[in-house]
Amino acid sequence: QRVLDEVTKPIEWNEHILFVGSSVGISTFPGQASNVDDLLSQADIAMYRAKSTVSNTICFYDPSMDQAARERNALAIEMREGLKRGEFELYYQRQNDTVSREVVGFEALLRWLHPQRGMVSPVEFIPIAEKTGFIFELGEWVMRAACAEAASWKRPLRIAVNVAPQQLTDPRLPGLVHEILLESGLSAARLEIEITESSIISDHQYALHAIRQLKKLGVKVAMDDYGTGYSSLSTLQSFPFDKIKIDRAFIDGVVTSKQSAAIVRSTLILAASLDIPVLAEGVEREEHMEFLRNEGCLQVQGFLFGKPTPRSGIEDIVNGTDGAAGEPDAE
Ligand code: C2E
Ligand code: CA
Ligand code: CA
Ligand code: CA
Repeated sequence: QRVLDEVTKPIEWNEHILFVGSSVGISTFPGQASNVDDLLSQADIAMYRAKSTVSNTICFYDPSMDQAARERNALAIEMREGLKRGEFELYYQRQNDTVSREVVGFEALLRWLHPQRGMVSPVEFIPIAEKTGFIFELGEWVMRAACAEAASWKRPLRIAVNVAPQQLTDPRLPGLVHEILLESGLSAARLEIEITESSIISDHQYALHAIRQLKKLGVKVAMDDYGTGYSSLSTLQSFPFDKIKIDRAFIDGVVTSKQSAAIVRSTLILAASLDIPVLAEGVEREEHMEFLRNEGCLQVQGFLFGKPTPRSGIEDIVNGTDGAAGEPDAE
């Protein structure tokens, strides 16, 4: 623990403060390992486990980690090859204004078309990419592909991109986003980065720093899956979010459960008092829409307006050839 405290102290460098994160894995000799190679590889496995939980933590090696780690690493290798072979693709799901019902933007959602397994859900492969460190490469590909796609649209609609906690706490992120914006020609204000609570919980101070850096570029930052973790709006008010996305877990119940309705209603009231716009996810039915619009929710996303589709499915909308009138309202 002393090692950990020491290396995670902010470092001052040329008037900048650098935050160094670290994860430590520990194995013992002669306890668990019988030679130096095993010792190192076991410590490595334990370190990956440490990395995968929260940053700046210590994990002790346990033999049950072996099998799981081997499977994860095998899949990470497959993902890396799959990415090179072009097996990954972005799907796009529309985000609509609750009053005008017009499309105001899209969220990019990653898909893996595996040659044998078929379509693999991000729910399966993203956690493994996060645990193995492949998320940096994958996330960079997503950011590039999404920005290039949005830059090609005739209408200046917003593109929302998911960024994993490991990416947010990577000091290279703001520079990378800046570079991708320049090379794609996408205007920064059209990019919205979605982060989840786990990003801000594990290292509050650095997360705030990273969000400020991104906002300096002119990029928008949204809090994703709101309500599923531990943070409350009172903790969120210390973060300069441009949007809150209420998790779909609460939306289905807004017309049937008093609790869900109360949670959504109070979130909307508090967000309004903090002056942060809210988007509700998982809107599947017209009655959800009606409830949300009446309660002052500005935007929705869900199967009611459309499922995530490949780029061919959104071409008419993004190029204005779908008969929709005029430009989308600016936020
Ligand atoms: P998310 O960011 O909360 O994305 C919304 C998920 O809800 C998507 O699942 C979407 O298909 C689904 N959804 C949208 N509308 C409805 C609805 O009306 N009803 C229901 N039942 N579901 C709806 P998907 O595409 O399977 O993605 C799952 C998760 O994987 C995402 O949750 C996000 O956390 C992660 N993910 C996807 N793409 C990326 C990516 O490029 N990078 C990272 N880091 N994570 C990603
Ligand atoms: Ca999201
Ligand atoms: Ca979400
Ligand atoms: Ca989610």
